[in-house]
Parts: sequence; structure tokens; C-alpha cells
Amino acid sequence: MASFSKLPFDEKLIYINGRWTESSTTQTCNVENPDTADVIAVVPECTAEDLDRAVHAAYTAFHDGPWVNEFSGAQRRDAMLALADAIEKSRGEIELIESINTGKPITDVRGELDDTIDLFRHFAGYADKVEGRHIAAQNNSSLEGYTVKVPVGVVGFINAFNYPICLLAWKVAPALAAGCTVVFKPGPQTPLTTQYFAHLLDSTNKFPPGVFNVVLGGVTVGQALVDHDLVDKIGFTGSVATGKHVIRSTASTRNVRSTSVELGGKSPGVVMPDVDLDKTAKLVVSGCMSNAGMNCNALTRLWVHRSIYDDFMPRLKAAAESLKLDTPQQDDTEMGPLIDRRQYERVLEYIRIGKEEDKASVLTGGEPALGRGYWIQPTLFYNVDPKARIATEEIFGPVLSVLQPFDSLDEVIEIERKNEFGLAAGIFSRNHQDIAKFTRKLRSGTIWVNNYNTLYSYLPFGGFRNSGFGRELGYESFDGYLAPKAIIDDISF
Ligand code: NAD
Repeated sequence: MASFSKLPFDEKLIYINGRWTESSTTQTCNVENPDTADVIAVVPECTAEDLDRAVHAAYTAFHDGPWVNEFSGAQRRDAMLALADAIEKSRGEIELIESINTGKPITDVRGELDDTIDLFRHFAGYADKVEGRHIAAQNNSSLEGYTVKVPVGVVGFINAFNYPICLLAWKVAPALAAGCTVVFKPGPQTPLTTQYFAHLLDSTNKFPPGVFNVVLGGVTVGQALVDHDLVDKIGFTGSVATGKHVIRSTASTRNVRSTSVELGGKSPGVVMPDVDLDKTAKLVVSGCMSNAGMNCNALTRLWVHRSIYDDFMPRLKAAAESLKLDTPQQDDTEMGPLIDRRQYERVLEYIRIGKEEDKASVLTGGEPALGRGYWIQPTLFYNVDPKARIATEEIFGPVLSVLQPFDSLDEVIEIERKNEFGLAAGIFSRNHQDIAKFTRKLRSGTIWVNNYNTLYSYLPFGGFRNSGFGRELGYESFDGYLAPKAIIDDISF
């Protein structure tokens, strides 16, 4: 059984106001290894009382502490660079914990740690570059008008389970660079690397108490964070249903607050007739099966041109069947298990729906795998009606629906413009007119051309329609944690 040595922090405690403290309850949450379904740790299930302590710490740190009121941008930059160094030093241990807790292949996790470290360094570079604008007054030369950008305040973050350390970095790095203070809640299934992160942040001695706080648990503590009147912004990543609930809740609090919601997807991919079929089949399979399909931007609706449909299917099948499913901590493992029993049962239910209700044909897979934990085979359906449930609902598992063959790219674009989601899309083609038509007409936050799933810190990521609003990564995310103040000064006074 994969295991890690003793954690360098006490996982039964929570990090609030620069200290590891006890939760106000004895209620706990089991943390599992999805490869085997073994319990690997037990963490507190925080209460609204714990959350209130965390928010007050972040509020005091923001309004009275040195992080915002005394530190220069350069000091915040240096604190973040020290944090990036600390993560880098401990990366081997973090990678192992992340892989065991999520079931992700260790090689994928290593890439995520590369991104996480780079992200903190990238956003550290923004911390000393907060800029306003000078705006000349209309018809009055004695007025000086200018803007200053200020941090939005206390930010409450609620994360999905699927990229614990990476999505933490997406949120926390730009917020800290902007000068905000943070209360962070990870997905209840994957809290360990968030606690590890708190331990490293603490070890730098560069972040004043209350700048970064963690609460653990699920709905109760998440709802308390969304409802808390001292929170100035909510950054949420999760499902559409919870996201809509969060938006409604933030509108009902005493003070309305800015909200950014990163939600689900049902991302289309299009294979045009002029591409290398073997290469494209492999890219499509990894576009869908990466992280066992538990990616918001997973390529799950595939359009294949009629003229290559029959040639493409065997290649797709071979690419899916060649994926190596094995212990995630082995270097050559390519796909891991689902995160927990709930997600495992949900995916099996969708496979049943595909077979029985949608009457789709199985090209490969469709069964549990490895006889342990939460493993399911990479599953391909083909000849699927574009309106079928498996082709329109987010499954969040290793299931690809190859739709009925298409003849015209215009028809595909017309249908995809009505897709409930608008997070990502991909096209495989050598024809620049087709590529331009697709990238111009489709309203998706990210569009990949002849590649899929590649992301880097400097490009914004987010969605249209039910995939949410707001952007993570890039300058856009940093700007989202700043608010402009307009100053009008009568210099003739
Ligand atoms: P989820 O909606 O079940 O939970 C997300 C988070 O919300 C968890 O931390 C959960 O504890 C919390 N939560 C639940 N109820 C709450 C409430 N009433 N108030 C406040 N918080 C509450 O989603 P999940 O299963 O953890 O994640 C999978 C979903 O996340 C998928 O739909 C996926 O597409 C989406 N996702 C989106 C992105 C993106 O960037 N767009 C990235 C990753 C995941």
C-alpha cells in the first residue's frame, strides 16, 4: 500500500491566525486513498464557529495588520518568492501526498507542482506592480483625477477536490499578490496538501498572522463562509448546482460582494478530415481521460467528420485501451481511479444511462477496473445522439461520447453555440479557415487548436454560460482581486 511518512503538521488541527489550533468540534472527516479506498488520515470537520474565527483573523489582518498597511509591494513579492522556494524544497513529499490522496499519476502531479511553484513566482512579480491611471478632468484644469487600485479585502475561497494544490495556487497567488487576506476551504476529499501549504507558508515567517487561514469540511463550513458578512469576495470552483447556490447566497448577505465562479463543462472537440489520425486519436484520449476525466475542461463531446469516422474509431479505441492503469505512484501509470465512492457510483450510473437510456454503442470500456478502490475503465461510446444525456451532462469521469458523424463544420458550430457550457473546446485541423471559423464563432473560455489541456499561468482561464464567470490565471485574475478608487483633487484650493 502506498503511504507517506509522518506529516510535518498535525492534521487534526487547523491553521488560523498564524497558529495551528483545535476545531470547536470533535466531528471529523476521513481522508481516503482512492486507489485502495483505505483511510489515510482523519481531519476536523470545521464548524461555523471555526469559520467565524478564521474570517475575523483575516479581517483583522486586512484592516489592522502589516500585510496591507505596512508592507510594500516588494515585501509581499519577497514573501511569495520565499513561499515558492519552500514549496520547491518540499515538493517530493507534497507530490507523494497529492498523488496518494487524489489517486493521480505521480508524473501528472509533478507537472502540477512545476506549475504551482512557477505560479507563485509569476504572481509575486505582480505584487510590486499595482498601478492606477491619471485621468484628465473635463473642462476644469484645476482638478486632478486619478485612480488607485486597492486590494478587494478578505477573500473566501472554496475549492473543488480535483486539483487541490494547483487550484489553490490559481486562487491564492494572485489574491496575495494583490494584498488581500484569505480564508481557504479545500474540497473535503482532498485537504492534505492545503494543510501542507499552510505549514510551508507558516515556516517562511514572512506572512503576518491572519493573512492566510484554512478551514476544513464540506457544506456547513462552505455555506458559513459564503454567508459571512465580513467577507469581501468569494472565489468558488465546483459544480454548477453548488455554484448557482453560492451566487444566490452571496446576493442575500447584508453586504453584496464580488463573486467569481468556475463551474463545470461539457467540452466539444472536432476532428476534421485533414489531420494525422493516429496522433489526433492519442490527443483526444488524453484530452478526455487525463485525471480520470475529472477535469472541468475534459474533452467529452467528440465530433468526427463522416469521411474519416470509420478509420478513426479503431485508432481511438487502441489509444484508450493502451492507457496504463496501475498504482498511481508508479512512474509509468497514465490513468488513476475516481476520487471517491460517490463519484465512482455516479460514473457507473452514467455508463448505464449511456447503454440503456441513450442506446449508445460502447466502443471500449464501461466496467470497473483493477478490482479495488474506485477504478473504472476508460470508456468510449460512439454514434451518440448529440442531445443524449451522456453527451450533454457533465459526468466527471473517464467517459467520452463520440457523436454521430458530421458533414459540415457550420452545423457543429451552430449546435455548440447552444451548449449549456462554455469552458473549453478543441479543434484538430490543418485548414486555417476552418480553425479561424471555429475560434471566432465559439464562445468558450479556452479553445485549443491541435493540442488539448495545455495550460499556463499567464493565460486567463474561465467560462461562458453555465461554466461560470470571472477568470483565473493571467493578469485578469490578479486584477480581479483589486478594486479601483477614484480620487478627485482640487489643486486650486
Ligand atoms: P461541488 O460543487 O460538489 O463542491 C465544490 C466545493 O463547494 C467543495 O469544497 C464543497 O465542500 C463546497 N460546497 C458544497 N456545498 C456548498 C455550499 N452550500 N456553500 C458553499 N460551499 C459548498 O464540486 P466538486 O465535486 O468538488 O467538484 C467538481 C466540479 O467542479 C465539477 O463540476 C467541475 O467541472 C468543477 N470544476 C471547475 C473548474 C473550473 O475551473 N471551471 C475546475 C475544477 C473543477
